[in-house]
Amino acid sequence: MTRRRQIYEGKAKILYEGPEPGTIIQHFKDDATAFNNEKKGTIEGKGVLNNRISEYIMGQLNGIGVPTHFIRRLNMREQLVRQVEIIPVEVIVRNIAAGSISKRLGIEEGTPLPRSIIEFCYKNDELGDPLVSEEHVTAFGWASPPELDEILQLSIRINDFLSGLFMGVGIKLVDFKLEFGRHWENDLLRILLADEISPDSCRLWDAKSGDKLDKDRFRRDMGGVTEAYQEVAKRLGLLKDIQDTPDNVVNIATGKNKDET
Ligand code: UDP
Repeated sequence: MTRRRQIYEGKAKILYEGPEPGTIIQHFKDDATAFNNEKKGTIEGKGVLNNRISEYIMGQLNGIGVPTHFIRRLNMREQLVRQVEIIPVEVIVRNIAAGSISKRLGIEEGTPLPRSIIEFCYKNDELGDPLVSEEHVTAFGWASPPELDEILQLSIRINDFLSGLFMGVGIKLVDFKLEFGRHWENDLLRILLADEISPDSCRLWDAKSGDKLDKDRFRRDMGGVTEAYQEVAKRLGLLKDIQDTPDNVVNIATGKNKDET
């Protein structure tokens, strides 16, 4: 049996060489980290749920013409994606104040922002992913001005589309993080949406109760983390083929059978 080559292991995912040149296998782990790695833990079943949720969202975005790295899901925890050169900038899109913007600017969490705000953070763990401006992004050559324009336009489209998609299932899209990469198609260089879109990378609040359905439950030790991620999958119609008992849902999420759980 040949072992596949691991390219990279991150906090929540492992990347393996894909079956064809230019492809990568993205493996979703149950591991979770927060506060720049200070807090570590596992969320049982998270990898399976994020793999499915991200597949669905990337598929929907492909459907409206947003180019993404996603090719197809391979199994419960893995998906095949296009290999890209990651642009070292996290794009944060915010609709409602929460998390770091609330702290930084003293805006109460839950305050709707006057308009959607896009922020950039330089991807660098040692520096704690510092907030940077568009000027930094282009001056240091992390992205060229036309690439940055493309990234901004795509981010706005993604926000409009996903805000509607989540509102349709009773969830407010508070904020989220996007990553983009460069991909060569013959001689043409394209910007693709990469990484994942899941409750790990979005703040999702129940529209009625305000309950948090995202990684803040882990960051803030609120409990019910797997259940919250399951709820998101369920509302998006991704658990509908599964008999709706808590046991079954957990079994599907963890990938274990009943004897093992
Ligand atoms: N986010 C992320 N990865 C990061 C930083 C942020 O996925 O490394 C997401 C986070 O889940 C939230 C949004 O980006 O949905 C905004 O995060 P914020 O800047 O408020 O930082 P945090 O409060 O997570 O430290």
